[in-house]
Amino acid sequence: MKLTVFRSEKGDCLLLTSKNGKRMLIDGGMEKSYENHVAPKLGRLRDANKKVDLVYVSHIDRDHISGVLRMLDDEAAWRVHEFQVANGNPGHPIPQTPRPPKLGGIWHNAFRDQLGNLTERVEDTLAASAPLLLAADAAELRRDGSKQGLLAQSIPEALKVSRRIGPNQLDIALNKQFAGKLATVEGIAQAAKLGTVTLTVIGPFAADVTKLRAEWKAWLETHGEAVLAIQHRAAADEESMGSSALAWPASQLIALGNELGARSKVTTPNLASIMLLAEEGGRRVLLTGDGHWQDILHGLERRGKLDPAGKLHVEVLKVQHHGSEHNIEQQFCDAITADHYVFCANGEHANPDLRVVSLIAERRFAEGAGAPFTFWFNSHSSVAETAAGRAHMSEVETLVGQLEQQSGGRLRSESLLGDSFEVPV
Ligand SMILES: [Zn+2]
Repeated sequence: MKLTVFRSEKGDCLLLTSKNGKRMLIDGGMEKSYENHVAPKLGRLRDANKKVDLVYVSHIDRDHISGVLRMLDDEAAWRVHEFQVANGNPGHPIPQTPRPPKLGGIWHNAFRDQLGNLTERVEDTLAASAPLLLAADAAELRRDGSKQGLLAQSIPEALKVSRRIGPNQLDIALNKQFAGKLATVEGIAQAAKLGTVTLTVIGPFAADVTKLRAEWKAWLETHGEAVLAIQHRAAADEESMGSSALAWPASQLIALGNELGARSKVTTPNLASIMLLAEEGGRRVLLTGDGHWQDILHGLERRGKLDPAGKLHVEVLKVQHHGSEHNIEQQFCDAITADHYVFCANGEHANPDLRVVSLIAERRFAEGAGAPFTFWFNSHSSVAETAAGRAHMSEVETLVGQLEQQSGGRLRSESLLGDSFEVPV
């Protein structure tokens, strides 16, 4: 396995590659970071005729999904371009964004009967934008003296283009391994395969997704106009596509507190995170989205992955929820140990939380002499996107420096300054 971790602002974006070359994109981070740090790499995969076999969207929060939406928007733009060129408009401008690789499938928990799933939303956008693009080229059509006729033919063609990116034509199958239903622990009896990698779903449990569905519905019911406005705006404005449609009500954002590991302080979307244990040749990567420590242990136990003492050692732990204080506590740190701890956070919302960083290190020190371990941070005070983030990352770096000293060489750390780094698995 190979694990590539991208800069992703305050979100997550990683790429897992199996020994036999199958790829899984793990969330897409924020739209801007996707554009700057992820899209070029994915474009190179496309150029090399390589595929992303699975896009795993842990949950619906913007910091995980807006990069994925951006990727789908980019593909949609390329499809429109292809269609235009193939239908008598050879001068249609080539999209300025790198074309993403072919996508084999998506794991994503949304409720299509209420707001529409990702694919449908992209289809909507395309259906609206293709005629707009046609209109932009209308001068040429007007010269033909048959604008009306051509447009009348082209709109149905544009709708064909929009259908082309649907599940059948673009081959973006939704939750295929869950029979097209929600991705939950109960929804898949066996582990899924990503080439030589085995993916065991350890979260969410159906009850958490049911709760999310209820909150989603309630939000839609009280924000009917907003939903309509979003749908209209999404048709024309690709900016809004990635940013507003899935914004969660601010009142539901986590209230900052001093308590560590309180499940009640974790939002419903976070608690509904899809969580996976990826295994290949006895090596393990634990992917936790923004989930809660109790749910991670519960899911691992359900799948028989904990030893009789209730413990598991993994090569890589993607630390849950950007190292937030509400999602972890001592019992978890003692139960789950890793050679490599990956913190996806850029200092915004004071993540990774200083208490969490110390707690993990201190619990490892408490083992006495033991194996070395590494902390990986996908940002740094010199590159974080906001002033508050830079200030916080600087505190994290000071703390980690002290912990490294205290560790007598056991703890190492790496910070990401460029687009991505590779964590050894
Ligand atoms: Zn998040």
